[in-house]
Amino acid sequence: MDAVNHQFRLAARPVGLPKPSDWTYAEEPVREPADGEVLVKIEYVSLDPAMRGWMNEGRSYIPPVGIGEVMRSFAAGEVIASKDPDVAVGEHVGGLLGVQEYALASGKGVVKVDTSLAPLPVYLGTLGMPGVTAYFGLLDIGQPQAGNTVVVSGAAGAVGGLVGQIAKLKDCRVVGIAGGEQKCRHLVEELGFDAAIDYKSQDVGAALTEHCPNGIDIYFDNVGGEILDAALAHLARRARVVICGAISQYNANGAMKGPSNYMALLVQHASMTGFVMSDYFDRYAEAVREMAGWLAAGKIVSREDIAEGLENFPEVLLRLFKGENTGKLVLKL
Ligand code: NAP
Repeated sequence: MDAVNHQFRLAARPVGLPKPSDWTYAEEPVREPADGEVLVKIEYVSLDPAMRGWMNEGRSYIPPVGIGEVMRSFAAGEVIASKDPDVAVGEHVGGLLGVQEYALASGKGVVKVDTSLAPLPVYLGTLGMPGVTAYFGLLDIGQPQAGNTVVVSGAAGAVGGLVGQIAKLKDCRVVGIAGGEQKCRHLVEELGFDAAIDYKSQDVGAALTEHCPNGIDIYFDNVGGEILDAALAHLARRARVVICGAISQYNANGAMKGPSNYMALLVQHASMTGFVMSDYFDRYAEAVREMAGWLAAGKIVSREDIAEGLENFPEVLLRLFKGENTGKLVLKL
């Protein structure tokens, strides 16, 4: 094969916000797949806040990306060569394929996707990792009951927008927290949230008092920091706090800011549970099936924010940390 594979390889461990020099833009020849492998021509690369954590040294739920390695990312594309009898050329697949144009992967390590049901980018969002995260994080950890008040932060993003919509399907009252008036309008007018709080211009504590008069039964946290603290101060009795992420802290220089209102957990007989979606890999298909049904029936809306050009990867990734995306941020190659 004569094709050249352009790719981003990790060059340095970032301090604070990543900068372009933390990666090298490299190229290498495309290799034929070995037995059991498939060669995927990547069409969309997923941009996920977790990628920031994967660049750090140290103990986490997954080993860090090594210096010199291709930057880890979810991606989706078409199989163009296969030495796995179960995966045919022409099929579309998704998986941890990296920030590059072509990926060799084990046929067993990719998930087949049906592009006649939904466009490929949707399989990186609603019908992919963020969708599965929202689904199990809310339903399994949050345990919503009809009539519950659910508050979600990072609400206009990939995970948050779905958490709120699933909570509405479970007859909850849903309040989203997001940055900016436009995002807040999107939550109420397009995603069907009951209320939205603009944390950039409003006092979050006062707004939670207004919108959650009976307290918060489920707080689904994507951002951590001060917003987590404000939510803790408004918990209802036996509330469930779902720790999904803490994006406000990912680029902190030094220690992350932890919650100071944690005694609210004792006072309200509440729980706070961290989870990683990979705990649910064996139930991935179950979530995707149900979400696909909701999507086809028009019960949930899938929103993708599509940027273009592999070479733009470093600056597009930063949009997540600047709040410049609405819905699932992906890069089209
Ligand atoms: P996303 O919400 O689509 O994008 C990130 C959003 O975070 C931005 O649009 C921005 O929205 C908000 N944000 C950025 N900096 C912030 C700050 N300092 N304070 C408050 N909000 C800030 O990303 P996503 O993929 O859906 O991920 C959301 C969260 O879920 C992340 O924390 C991620 O790490 C986590 N996650 C966890 C798992 C798991 O298995 N536990 C899986 C997937 C994702 P605004 O404009 O509203 O600020």
